[in-house]
Amino acid sequence: MVDGPPRPVANFLPPVIRENYGQWASHSLVAPGIMEHVSKTGKKVYTVRAADPPNGRYSTGTIRKISALARKYCGGYMRYTQAVNMEFFVDSPEKAQELKRELEALGFPVGGWGGHLWNLTSCAGFLHCALAATDAPSVAQALGNAMFKYYRDEELPAKLSMAVSGCPSSCGGSFLTDISISGIHTEIPIVLPSAKACDLQGTTQSCPVGAIQLETVDGERHIAIRKKLCIGCGLCLAACSGIVFETPEKTDGHVIEIGGKASVSRTGTTMGRVVVPFLPNDAPHYPVTVKTVERIVDTWKKDAKKGERIADWIDRIGWEKFYRKTKLPFYEQSMETLDIRGIMTIKDSSGR
Ligand code: SF4
Ligand code: SF4
Repeated sequence: MVDGPPRPVANFLPPVIRENYGQWASHSLVAPGIMEHVSKTGKKVYTVRAADPPNGRYSTGTIRKISALARKYCGGYMRYTQAVNMEFFVDSPEKAQELKRELEALGFPVGGWGGHLWNLTSCAGFLHCALAATDAPSVAQALGNAMFKYYRDEELPAKLSMAVSGCPSSCGGSFLTDISISGIHTEIPIVLPSAKACDLQGTTQSCPVGAIQLETVDGERHIAIRKKLCIGCGLCLAACSGIVFETPEKTDGHVIEIGGKASVSRTGTTMGRVVVPFLPNDAPHYPVTVKTVERIVDTWKKDAKKGERIADWIDRIGWEKFYRKTKLPFYEQSMETLDIRGIMTIKDSSGR
């Protein structure tokens, strides 16, 4: 561990970035995944962007190989973007192309910029989270396999960001991406007798909607879940091991949301809206989920004007036409705030 105050961020910037800080005048894509930035001082830097694996998991051996490339081409500097793409900075287009070849030989495709898929992130899901309702990294992998053509080769009307979260807590940042998947529990958890060993007060406080109440029966304190309030988020399971979902293998699944973006352009920052309220966890290839996402992307690709992200496109054509064009089933609740309770109701009424 390093003692002392935090070191200035400038210590970690490549010299060309540090010396031209605040001086950048323009940028343009010169090849898929390679951006030329031009400074007012006349300096140019070529940023090479490559995709990472779902959930950003690497072996130490792979990290060493990536570090060796950063040393060979960029003086040891590189960075990861918010979408967990790796970026390297080189001083000529020729070096950028050489680096691209080396990255792709290692299995990291270069692309993800402009009117393309900008990578696909996921939370840890079942890898180490107690709240997951769907295996976020494997859904991301299945979608990534199907959508890879858009990462580098086939052009889209605008940027496409995608993310997968294992539950509505959305650690994968799902609600602010163009298309996202969120795991969902669709049952109310039950309280086992062993729950009495839990921190009862803390467990009641873990519930975001106040659905857990403390009761005293025969002089002993218990917790009880008010079914009418519970939204099935699963947060209380992390607080108390005596609370469980009884049949998650039958009731867990995921939803598709679209139209989120963290950008001030056109329609501004928007939250994704649920358009498919429940899909089963049909691992490992999630065929229905993948086909549905493909259908949304194909329709957007055909119908949108250049530069229109999914939220902008829907803003122009309206939700009614969106459902008509994509032929997705329309649910009355989708047009309003479709929360988890609404999804559970739809699922119950469809008999699934
Ligand atoms: S989104 Fe849910 S499943 Fe994923 S890491 Fe966060 S809490 Fe866990
Ligand atoms: S699942 Fe969520 S909403 Fe339901 S009781 Fe637990 S914490 Fe509350």
